[in-house]
Amino acid sequence: MELMNKKILVVGLARTGVAVARFLAEQGAEVTVTDMKEHGELASELAKLEGLPINYQLGGNDKHTFLMADLIVVSPGVPMEIKPLQLARAQRRSVISEIELAALHITAPIVAITGTNGKTTTTTLTGELFRACGFATFVGGNIGNPLIELVATGAAVERVVVELSSFQLEGIQQFRPRVAVLLNITEDHLDRYATFQDYIDAKVRIFENQTAEDFAILNMDDPIVAACAGKIRARLVPMSQQRELDQGIFYRDGRITFRWDGREELFPIAGYQLQGVHNRENIMAALAAGLLMGCDAAASQEAAASFRGLPHRMELVRTINGIPWYEDSKATNVGSVEKALASFDNITLIAGGKDKGGSYGPLAELVRSRVRHMVLIGEARERIARELGELTDTRLASSLEEAVQLAHELTGPGGVVLFSPACSSFDMFRDYEERAERYKALVRALDGGER
Ligand code: ADP
Repeated sequence: MELMNKKILVVGLARTGVAVARFLAEQGAEVTVTDMKEHGELASELAKLEGLPINYQLGGNDKHTFLMADLIVVSPGVPMEIKPLQLARAQRRSVISEIELAALHITAPIVAITGTNGKTTTTTLTGELFRACGFATFVGGNIGNPLIELVATGAAVERVVVELSSFQLEGIQQFRPRVAVLLNITEDHLDRYATFQDYIDAKVRIFENQTAEDFAILNMDDPIVAACAGKIRARLVPMSQQRELDQGIFYRDGRITFRWDGREELFPIAGYQLQGVHNRENIMAALAAGLLMGCDAAASQEAAASFRGLPHRMELVRTINGIPWYEDSKATNVGSVEKALASFDNITLIAGGKDKGGSYGPLAELVRSRVRHMVLIGEARERIARELGELTDTRLASSLEEAVQLAHELTGPGGVVLFSPACSSFDMFRDYEERAERYKALVRALDGGER
């Protein structure tokens, strides 16, 4: 893509916007950056761009700038449907996400990973597998390191692993990953999509530009994912924990089997650190992607077995008087809480936060059978109580402090306390990490003997 002297508008000035603006300015483009925030709030971002020939429109969006741009690059946090972007698209301006721009400048094979849940875990593990097998690897995308930073530094890498949200996928045009992974699709982000189908359509775009030379790894145990298989042009690599497969990757009797074009590799999972049904899904996807892209089975097995997982995803904080306390603050939707509940019995569940508009109904059976006490917090607490409250002993708490205290009093021997909110955190906290740290501090401060 020719960038010299092009009028390019960068929308959103967080970490990604900074990297995009810098890259474009260095390529000789005429760059304008816009953000709803004012100068003062963006001081540290602006400092990083000091000295570069960049125009700024801060504290709001001017639609004329959008209409004049040859190209508009949208940061991941900015909704594609904001008014000025709609106007620009209607006037046939080219509107893309940072992923599209970056990928056009990357020659190493890309493994792209999406799904409602498990993206970060799978992306991180896939990166670990490549590194363990000796490939110089960049891991980025939605996970924190914008892909454009790889392009900007010009680092020589042999493999790129990128985590993609549905929002980033909305802004692609030619993006074509060598391997695309779709882990699962359950309701999420209904506050940003008009319908669930719109969200599914955005996710499936990951396969849009693939050809028969590429690979599409699909979790066939997920009915919505399986239904997408017919539309894919890439070679389909199915994955299942329920069925043995002639081709693809499957789990049975304590081991994962990868079968592809006559090759068969076995991965016994007995010694793996990563636990839970959902993590098996993540491990299978990562192994399949690695093996298809040149990884050696023995080195992959070693790296997968020693992978400890990431914080805030079903992390054990402490055991008090024999009761384990888990922190799963990253569980911001119903799909992830489903998997968490399926992993335990006799649960005291602390949930709630900012409601995202979906139904809590899919949790009903698990709440009935596995949750002994439910303590609800945040804006969503009344709604959750209405939908699920009759299925188990349910209490409302006015703060996380009170919820932790209540859970401590209610949970008897053989129980487990699980903080798996099913909601986002923005009603009471800056983000899910702050929510996690607060919970952990409260749990650490509880009285009681460790065992
Ligand atoms: P993402 O990046 O898609 O948000 P994470 O790996 O950060 O995914 O995990 C988010 C939440 O989903 C955590 O609560 C985690 O325990 C749960 N989770 C992880 N993998 C899966 C999966 N394959 N299916 C359902 N839930 C999952």
